[in-house]
Amino acid sequence: MERTHFNGTLRLENVGEEVTLLGWVANRRNLGSLLFIDLRDTTGIVQLRTSEPEKFPDVRNEYVIEAKGTVVKKDQPNKALPTGDIEIALSSIKVISKAETTPFIIADKSDALEDTRLKYRYLDLRRPILQKNLRLRAKIAKVWREYLDERGFTEIETPILNLSSPEGARDYLVPSRVHPGAFYALPQSPQLWKQLLMLGGMERYYQVAKCFRDEDLRADRQPEFTQLDAEMSFMDQDQVLSLMEGFLKRLFKETIDVDIELPLRRMKYWDAMDIYGSDKPDTRFDLKLQDIKSYMTPTEFGGFGAYVKGIVVPGVAAETSRKVIDSLSEEARKYRLKGVFVLKFLNGALEGSFLKFLTPEQQKGLVEGLGLKDGDILVFASHDDRRVIDFGLGAIRSLYGRQLGYVRPDTYDLLWVVDFPMFDPVEGQPGLYSAEHHPFTRPRDEDLPLLDTNPEEALAYAYDIVINGYEAGGGTLRIYDHDTQWKIFKLLGLSDEDVAEKFGWFIDAFRYGAPPHGGIAFGMDRLAMILNQTENIRDVIAFPKNLQATDPTSKAPQKVSQEQLDILGISVKE
Ligand code: ASP
Repeated sequence: MERTHFNGTLRLENVGEEVTLLGWVANRRNLGSLLFIDLRDTTGIVQLRTSEPEKFPDVRNEYVIEAKGTVVKKDQPNKALPTGDIEIALSSIKVISKAETTPFIIADKSDALEDTRLKYRYLDLRRPILQKNLRLRAKIAKVWREYLDERGFTEIETPILNLSSPEGARDYLVPSRVHPGAFYALPQSPQLWKQLLMLGGMERYYQVAKCFRDEDLRADRQPEFTQLDAEMSFMDQDQVLSLMEGFLKRLFKETIDVDIELPLRRMKYWDAMDIYGSDKPDTRFDLKLQDIKSYMTPTEFGGFGAYVKGIVVPGVAAETSRKVIDSLSEEARKYRLKGVFVLKFLNGALEGSFLKFLTPEQQKGLVEGLGLKDGDILVFASHDDRRVIDFGLGAIRSLYGRQLGYVRPDTYDLLWVVDFPMFDPVEGQPGLYSAEHHPFTRPRDEDLPLLDTNPEEALAYAYDIVINGYEAGGGTLRIYDHDTQWKIFKLLGLSDEDVAEKFGWFIDAFRYGAPPHGGIAFGMDRLAMILNQTENIRDVIAFPKNLQATDPTSKAPQKVSQEQLDILGISVKE
């Protein structure tokens, strides 16, 4: 099949040329004596026309056709189309394949339900916007490869069939036929393998890696996702960060032509939490958390914990009804706060049910100290656990950031969050911890003694890249010393047998000469979302799962035959 041009590439300079075009009928308008057809291919749409419709075969939307004709200048250009200065005076049409009426109209703006679009994803993919998203996605991987290749990194594949290990999320398991009753696990990330590559002396590795986590889904999460993964030896944290921000600069330039200024800002974890109530702060807007404990040692109110913090939201007092306050409390409860209090500042005076607990002097102190202006509200809460109050108020901050239109999708805010704690205390189990990043994260040299005394205070060589309030990637320097690694496993509550069974094969490697190393993984899907300015991860994946972790196109997962189960030695509980 010979096409002379791609449809979307035709311009005024092609006027006079005889062309043969291929594609789908995107639209046809028959005005009696005039017939117009929009012909779509992967590069765009061009208009075909004839004043003798009766000479051509009847075509309908989504027919695949071959069209021949001459490029002519349009009397009235169509500004909405890149090809709008020209059209094709038709000489022939050949129908290659007919189409039934499609379940929804194929256009960038579609009001079809997402479920329907995903069921017929191959039709959905004909929408130019989705094709644009996927092209941009492909470019991300290309820039990643080029950038690292140029710097002496080697692309290496790591296994998909792995040992199940307690690394964070739930594993997807794959039964072994050869070893009945035994299971592989799909990789949550190539973490252990990329570290072994460093122990194997490769020094600089990268991969575009498929990862799998059996977690509940959200708008920005999928059970299978892609990481831009890298690991390198003999580099300290600053070297890793500056290498990686060089990649981000190039990525933003080459994909969306945005200039990112380097070096990127670095914010300490506890500052991010303290000020923005988040370890992935969107710093495009202020609404900072403020410590207000000193203003309100309450006279009667007895329910305050160690921390009392609030945020001042400007200009919303009038619309802050009881219902709004209840919904703020509900949001806060998701983060284990009991609820929030709200004080409004209206017509020069504070209002709110909490007022009765404050003396007139305290009220004055609050208004002056926080610089409240007419129409402001103060949303505040209290708790004994620093993380709880910060995350709770941080969520309310984000809510208002969106609601008040402070976050524009076409502005970019990149920063590193650094100095994460090594551990999260496990609630209600003193002395037990979970890893803030993962168990292979190296504590800061100066904090090593804290592992024996106050592990919760130990900070790590750990860093996250935050873009517009999304965690777009993260990594750590790794422990490269056998004994420290063992100690960390113990703090995480693993028994000697657990460590030996699950990680023995891994930490043994550290006995034979281990280079200091570290790495990072970017969430490629998240990067694609940010660069494509969409908040729906399914918009940047060709064949995504829906929120029920089902593939709506093929309907996976499904039951399998008894015979298949028998071969695997598996019986399914009803
Ligand atoms: N494997 C880590 C993750 O998936 C990233 C890293 O530490 O390099 O989050």
